[in-house]
Amino acid sequence: MKKEEYMASDGLEREVRLRYRPLCLQVSLLGEEDADYGPQEPGERFLQAVWNERHLREPMRTVSGKTLSVLSPGTWNVSGGPDFTHAKLMVEGKVVSGDVEIHRVASDWIRHGHPSDPAYRDVVLHGVWQNDRDVEVLGAETLVMSNYLKPSWQRLLWDTEDARYAYAQKVPFGECARRWAALENDVIQRTLAVAGLSRMESRGDALTQAVRERGADQALYEAVFDGLGYKSNRTAFRMLAEQLPLVELLALKDEADREAMLFGMAGLLADPTREPVLPEWVTLLKDLWNRWWSHGAPRLELPWSRSHARPYNSPCRRLAAGLAWLRHTQYAPARWLHACSQTATTPKALLDLLLEPMKGQDQWRGCVDFCHRIRPPADLLGLPRRIDIVGNVILPYLHRRPTMEPASSPTAAAVARDAFLLLPRSQENRLLKEAVQRFFMPPSRCREVVDNLSRQQGLLDIYRRFCLTLDMQCDRCPMAAASDARHEPR
Ligand code: SF4
Repeated sequence: MKKEEYMASDGLEREVRLRYRPLCLQVSLLGEEDADYGPQEPGERFLQAVWNERHLREPMRTVSGKTLSVLSPGTWNVSGGPDFTHAKLMVEGKVVSGDVEIHRVASDWIRHGHPSDPAYRDVVLHGVWQNDRDVEVLGAETLVMSNYLKPSWQRLLWDTEDARYAYAQKVPFGECARRWAALENDVIQRTLAVAGLSRMESRGDALTQAVRERGADQALYEAVFDGLGYKSNRTAFRMLAEQLPLVELLALKDEADREAMLFGMAGLLADPTREPVLPEWVTLLKDLWNRWWSHGAPRLELPWSRSHARPYNSPCRRLAAGLAWLRHTQYAPARWLHACSQTATTPKALLDLLLEPMKGQDQWRGCVDFCHRIRPPADLLGLPRRIDIVGNVILPYLHRRPTMEPASSPTAAAVARDAFLLLPRSQENRLLKEAVQRFFMPPSRCREVVDNLSRQQGLLDIYRRFCLTLDMQCDRCPMAAASDARHEPR
């Protein structure tokens, strides 16, 4: 970071409070003013995520009183037609296959013109948040989803920000792209840094809530494990951390028992009777099985996904990285972070400490799992993933610590904030690619403008809070009406 940028960080934080947050509030109020939808009602994307992730308590009952359970939610359809295709349901004891359409209110079925659209004739379930009026959907049942939410649905508040819920749609240039095309890079970068800081603060607020509910160590453990699951395995990692709490892990006799419980409960121990185990794992695997059995702990039904994971990102390697991190913190992440922020008094020193590669668990460097090797051997967690975890969990936590622990140092919080502004770029996800299309003309300009993590996150935050919330309607967006950033005080 350049010296003048570092000096400007206090001003950026003021700008988050005085300018960016009020604009965000305006957008949320615009949503509340919408005549069709009441305040606090989730968007369709969120409801689709709830359906896709099966965050609904079963058995359910449809509006007509039939019992309903979901055998398969179907395939999320990101182009025209029903939201999910080829779903499999059990309705009143009978298996029913077909499509599922999700709406915020039942009357949207008519408002969107579906009754006369042949693409919707195979719909077997109409999922709605609110049954505002009786709407007959020929051949389909209606389900009021808000009656059956599991407590775990809140996890989606984070997940829906991520790439896996992005639509593979062609995103049109927005009004901002026209304005930004005429601005210098440094003006746009400042706007993005403000939005990025706002996003970091929101992450910190979510962590603060978790710390109040479950304590700092457990909240950090869950959030870091969630980050280890990147994209397809976040839910599985978070469930593991929730169901094997840190206090139980710490109470075990020794490190080998902890390793056995984590891998055993995760269901990741290989079965040597079914697949050939690598020679170096044979003895150790047997020991892990014996230790796990001796505790009588359950094997959790975790939704591991291996289909899109690169071998280097396999669940076993990620879990080994999580274990290495826990050992590094001596199973007390909050105390470890407190020590880090006392030792490292500059943003750069703090990042050097936090971004160090994981040490230990070296036997995993050359393995995908207990049965397969990878070449060449590599660190358990690559730098981009470490940047993401530090930017999404660790620094937001350190920045918000004074609100959780009044005795902690505000200077350390400012160092954490400035370390966030220093973090290098991370990997792009699909949502970020959409945002680039939306804001940059030509999109290739983003390479020189969006050059660090805070700006990447700022771009995502504006896209999510403004463009997606307003369904891309720039004419309703306060960001379009905001005064030209060139004339704002710096
Ligand atoms: S919706 Fe708002 S933030 Fe998005 S491009 Fe249009 S004016 Fe910009």
